[in-house]
Amino acid sequence: MALNFSINATISPPNPVKVNYKNSSKTLQNVKNLVNKIGVPSISSSPHESLQKGNWVKLICGASFEDVVDIRNLSLVYTLAGVDCIDCAADASVVSAVSQGIEAAREILPVRRPWTMISVNDDEDLHFRKAEFDPDDCPLDCSRPCEKVCPADAILLEGKKSTAEVSHGTDMIGESKGGVITERCYGCGRCFPVCPYDKIREVTYVRDATATAELLKRNDVDAIEIHTSGRQTTPFEELWAGLGDSVRYLRLVAVSLPNIGETTISSLNQMYSIMEPHLHCLNLWQLDGRPMSGDIGRGATRESIAFAVQLAAAKDRPPGFLQLAGGTNAHTVAGLKKEGLFRTSITKNTTDEKSTANLLSSSNSLIGGIAYGGYARKIVGRVLNSLQSQHGLTLIEDHPDHLLEALQEAIALVGTVKCYDDPFLTH
Ligand code: SF4
Ligand code: SF4
Repeated sequence: MALNFSINATISPPNPVKVNYKNSSKTLQNVKNLVNKIGVPSISSSPHESLQKGNWVKLICGASFEDVVDIRNLSLVYTLAGVDCIDCAADASVVSAVSQGIEAAREILPVRRPWTMISVNDDEDLHFRKAEFDPDDCPLDCSRPCEKVCPADAILLEGKKSTAEVSHGTDMIGESKGGVITERCYGCGRCFPVCPYDKIREVTYVRDATATAELLKRNDVDAIEIHTSGRQTTPFEELWAGLGDSVRYLRLVAVSLPNIGETTISSLNQMYSIMEPHLHCLNLWQLDGRPMSGDIGRGATRESIAFAVQLAAAKDRPPGFLQLAGGTNAHTVAGLKKEGLFRTSITKNTTDEKSTANLLSSSNSLIGGIAYGGYARKIVGRVLNSLQSQHGLTLIEDHPDHLLEALQEAIALVGTVKCYDDPFLTH
């Protein structure tokens, strides 16, 4: 069931969330036991250290996904699962939803706080678009393939019978209501080609640099991700200039780009030289293999792995961690291991500086980590959908049985990178 929650909904600043333990204390204890058993609270290393060790995990809520209820619950679940960073839309309400989810998780158990990253674009980009159509234009006999194909449950249509239909029995007169739930649409584009009547439009947008600069000053925003095509650096340079001094508040600047073949490295070097004079924090290159496709199937991750192999072999690339995205799913770590790019020898609590330094200098110390988007949302989304259909819009921690189920899914995925020793590593 889809949510219809306004993107302009006011979310109050992060507050401690009161958990209703009544009737559910045993299940909530099971949640705590699970998180304690795999050792998430004992992860005291910072997200920076995770990047160095190669076991950084980022949850991508979606650059255009703005359903604040789902985002809050996803953030809670993945914080308990031990992610290092939560990447979300550059919108004040969305950032507050992430912060609320993180703080609610930390009310349950003292896990460390993941970084919050906001995503922006320097030009038109697949991640920054919405689908749109007028349901009144849709023939009533359409089988609504758009609704079925949407991975975000962002299309909801309800046929409405007209007076004429009721009195004359025709099914061709009347109107539909509903359409695209804007805040849930994250621009994957799967609905566009399936509409037999070509009714769905693509609406693109570019995040405003001035508004972004203001968001970066919030103390619950730690990082920015700039999506760029990599094909021309002028828009990138303009955006970077527009962010001005606000970048000094950051711990990490990520640049996300697709594989543009032989020119990728020169593009990275150009962007690095633009950033360098004002880059006073870590930087990361997000290798966007096959955008927004991790939920499609096993093979979706191949392109991001191939991209990683290509960049790992490049001697002349600029400084910065490498992190996979775009098609990443439960098969990504296995693919990286095959290529010798996953630091399998680092376990969850490697704190010995000497062994870490040795590993970092080894040929396998090239991948900082993995970001999971559509796949991470899909596996937990099943539980959130069930929660919502049973209880409506609600806080997941008020239903510990659902929280436990969602957490098992999240841990199974995050654990592939963090090397959790856990019975739920079934993916
Ligand atoms: S673009 Fe993707 S997320 Fe948006 S409505 Fe279409 S199928 Fe759903
Ligand atoms: S597939 Fe096209 S015509 Fe049919 S309901 Fe969807 S948008 Fe309307």
